[in-house]
Amino acid sequence: MSDSEPRSRSHLEPAAEADGVSLAEHAVELVADHLETIGSTAVAPRLSGIDDIRAWLAGCDFENAHDPAAVLDEVAEQLSSSGVHTTHPRYFGLFNPTPTWAGVAGDIVTAGFNPQLAAHSHAPAAVELERHVLRFMSDRLGLPAEAHGSFTSGGAEANHTATVVALTARIRNFASAGVAGSAERPVFYASAESHLAWLKIAHACGLGRDAVRLVSVDLGHRLDLAALDSMYARDVSAGLKPFMIVGTAGTTGAGAIDPLHGLADRAERWGLHFHVDAAWAGAVVLSDSLRPLLSGAERADSVTIDAHKWMSVPMGAGMIFTAEPGQVAQAFHVETSYMPAQSAAGDDPYTSSMQWSRRAIGVKLFASLSTHGRQGYERQLEHDVALGEYIASQVASSGWTRINDTLLPVVCIADPEADRGPDSWRWHSAVAEHVVLGGDAWISPVRLSGRAAIRICVTSHRSTERDVDILLEALDRARRSVPRRS
Ligand SMILES: *Cc1c(COP(=O)(O)O)cnc(C)c1O
Repeated sequence: MSDSEPRSRSHLEPAAEADGVSLAEHAVELVADHLETIGSTAVAPRLSGIDDIRAWLAGCDFENAHDPAAVLDEVAEQLSSSGVHTTHPRYFGLFNPTPTWAGVAGDIVTAGFNPQLAAHSHAPAAVELERHVLRFMSDRLGLPAEAHGSFTSGGAEANHTATVVALTARIRNFASAGVAGSAERPVFYASAESHLAWLKIAHACGLGRDAVRLVSVDLGHRLDLAALDSMYARDVSAGLKPFMIVGTAGTTGAGAIDPLHGLADRAERWGLHFHVDAAWAGAVVLSDSLRPLLSGAERADSVTIDAHKWMSVPMGAGMIFTAEPGQVAQAFHVETSYMPAQSAAGDDPYTSSMQWSRRAIGVKLFASLSTHGRQGYERQLEHDVALGEYIASQVASSGWTRINDTLLPVVCIADPEADRGPDSWRWHSAVAEHVVLGGDAWISPVRLSGRAAIRICVTSHRSTERDVDILLEALDRARRSVPRRS
């Protein structure tokens, strides 16, 4: 074959390669413009409503070809005119970060090369690169050297994976007969403040949602070990079959960290799988001073960490680690004639994880970690924690009561006058909404053990003390404007 003849271009290619390049450059410019201007615009703009969005889409047909740059312009304009801008430095929200440029760039390379991560032999460099990142994270967690890691779409898939692994390892014949093969009904434990993806996971695994045994929490919103002990005893005598304990390290609402050692002790004593859900807070393993917060996670059978939260790479990027590599193989092995033969170099990802065809999710994390180094992340995480302390001290001096207790940068506050009253939820929600509608910042109402509060969480690596000050001014205005009684 010779290269010299001009190749005919396919129906799906631009007229010249340079056109494709300038389209991609245009896309990058749109992102750059967005990031440059976002800080001076509303966090949650309402420039277009649902009707405007649908009217725009009604005019978008797929029958004919359109100018691709104009298409991207329209998409970018729509994306910036509505919704919640998680890239905004005053998005004090739900762990959706401002992605790092290195992460974005890594994802562009991934999209363009499009390596197939199902089979090792199809993408040895991408598979090995992912394993290199996963090994690093697993070592920082303190898991055994042979622990297995996989990238997932996010924390929910990682937790789902852990549940399938735990069921396969602990419930006899689960792999062949499923839940029906067990004379006793399998159940598992997680705190009442855990992430409720567990309900969907129990549903999807055929366990039924009642199989999630929600254990009450203590005053610090951590799973209450005494409550777990009595629930376990009752369940066993009622003929249920506990198979897993979940410890949440960094709850979504309050940033509480369950007593991981106490849970590990019980899992050992009772012969249960111990899973640590550190989807958000797991990033602290990158900091030498914050890492002890996760003490006990090294004793887990499996651990979830999301890279698309506090590690600031674009969605979706979750990680699941399993201490005993044999367990994932048991849960996910399969053989087919059409898949490439297993390479001698290593297991095929499709035989040790939930997904089959899979994007090289790890490249963006590899790029971001290499660019900033663990030490860069360490400085950022410690900055974010210090900013959380700044928020806590500022709200205290404006007379708010902090109702959560964590070193992590999430601060939940209640107004002493409205706290616990019959109107408490309505009032705190209305104050949060007032701030959001004003455009200055994004915060959210939360209920912690039923108590209404406003939740402020350092989420963007671009947030500064000045951003906190702007938020607090908006919060004070909202507090004065929202009527105390409905
Ligand atoms: C975010 C989160 C999840 C769910 O993860 P996704 O990435 O949204 O799928 C699960 N558990 C905890 C503790 C979380 O913070």
